[in-house]
Amino acid sequence: MEKQDIVIVGSGCAGLFAALQFPEDRKILMITKEIIEHSDSFLAQGGICVLKTPEDYQSFFDDTLKAGHYENRRESVDIMIRSSRDTIQELIGYGVDFARASDGTLLYTREGAHSKPRILYHEDETGKEITSCLLSQVRKNKPNVQILENTAMVDLVCTGNTCLGVVIRRSDGSYDTIPADYTMLACGGIGGLYTHSTNYPQLTGDGLAVCMEHDVALENINYVQIHPTTLYTKKPGRSFLISESVRGEGALLYNAKMERFANELMPRDLLTAAIYQQMAKDGTEYVWEDLRPLGEETIKTHFPNIYTKCLEEGYDVTKECIPVTPAQHYFMGGIHVDEESKTTMEHLYAIGETACNGVHGKNRLASNSLLESLVFAKRAARHILEHYEALSTALPAIDFSRYEPAETLAQKRKERILGEIERLNQHGNQ
Ligand SMILES: Cc1cc2nc3c(=O)[nH]c(=O)nc-3n(C[C@H](O)[C@H](O)[C@H](O)COP(=O)(O)OP(=O)(O)OC[C@H]3O[C@@H](n4cnc5c(N)ncnc54)[C@H](O)[C@@H]3O)c2cc1C
Repeated sequence: MEKQDIVIVGSGCAGLFAALQFPEDRKILMITKEIIEHSDSFLAQGGICVLKTPEDYQSFFDDTLKAGHYENRRESVDIMIRSSRDTIQELIGYGVDFARASDGTLLYTREGAHSKPRILYHEDETGKEITSCLLSQVRKNKPNVQILENTAMVDLVCTGNTCLGVVIRRSDGSYDTIPADYTMLACGGIGGLYTHSTNYPQLTGDGLAVCMEHDVALENINYVQIHPTTLYTKKPGRSFLISESVRGEGALLYNAKMERFANELMPRDLLTAAIYQQMAKDGTEYVWEDLRPLGEETIKTHFPNIYTKCLEEGYDVTKECIPVTPAQHYFMGGIHVDEESKTTMEHLYAIGETACNGVHGKNRLASNSLLESLVFAKRAARHILEHYEALSTALPAIDFSRYEPAETLAQKRKERILGEIERLNQHGNQ
């Protein structure tokens, strides 16, 4: 394919927000594995954190570090919090409609491990509101951004330690290369590698796999977050999340005897452990969650998506408890990046969930990931623009047969990533 200035792999909030930052004289190609609406960014329910007032800085910082077991990179947390208000203003400028009181002031909700309400939201579909707004901005105002759906990045093209672009596989099975001055990996998490996950199944850590193969540094890839509460079902497919903000607003958890057994607002990893322990004690595959303390009006106005989905599954949450169980949810580790989202390979950046800039430490504080994705996507774009260096190296010839059969390659990469996660879990991260 013809040479691009920047190729962006992935069309979630990180990829789209990065694309919006480039001026129109930059030629950008965004590729995405499925249709554009199939990204986890569209699924985010609870909301997006913001520094509500300058006085909340220390508390926001401390909550993020405490949830992350103090393994966070403090400078990254600081950047995220300090950039949050401008980021939210930018979103509002693009037309994102956050919940507001009748006098027009923004409303804030709370989730587990937050000592104060500081989360902006749009019903229980904040991710869809933000990401569809970003997408329409790209479509309307960025004629320089071309989007190719159903196109998967299968490899990086490199010479020495410089990235020259990517190898792609189209849905008809054909291969091609895309030369680019800069490559941005924005390919999300790794939930597709797990049997039970809230993530889209195509999120199989492809960015991680290719970085492993090209010796690009990774960080803490065994830091995988399990969400404590997803709707229990025997049906196969993506697990449906029961947002933490439901518990932030007062929902309770019960054991098999319908007694409370844990503080519902503990950090995710601790609550997940408590639920697993309770399930083992009760000999069940789930515990109960009671949304009735929220009242019918709050359930239907703040959480309409959860209310409807549970009804479809046969539960009226205004009248009865629902069975919930933990599932893989978020990836704190990833491709190691610095504060500007630069990887250890020249001309290669990583943003969003696929990257690890250290904000989340060992465990992500709820609703920090949309914010972190946006803040560091913007920093990556700005850094590229400020240090722009065109590449003149021609791409080497690539033997595409090495990526066939595609299923075998996917299986091999899955085993390698999960094997490395297992190894780190056994032997530690040093
Ligand atoms: C159910 C759910 C609820 C959540 N709720 C919240 C919340 O309330 N608040 C919050 O802050 N966070 C929340 N999160 C987390 C948050 O949504 C994600 O961390 C964030 O959206 C990640 O954005 P991203 O752009 O990095 O990745 P994604 O939005 O996942 O996008 C990744 C993109 O990369 C593409 N891709 C992957 N591999 C390839 C490849 N090889 N080639 C081409 N394209 C590829 C995918 O198709 C997709 O388009 C939630 C997540 C889930 C699953």
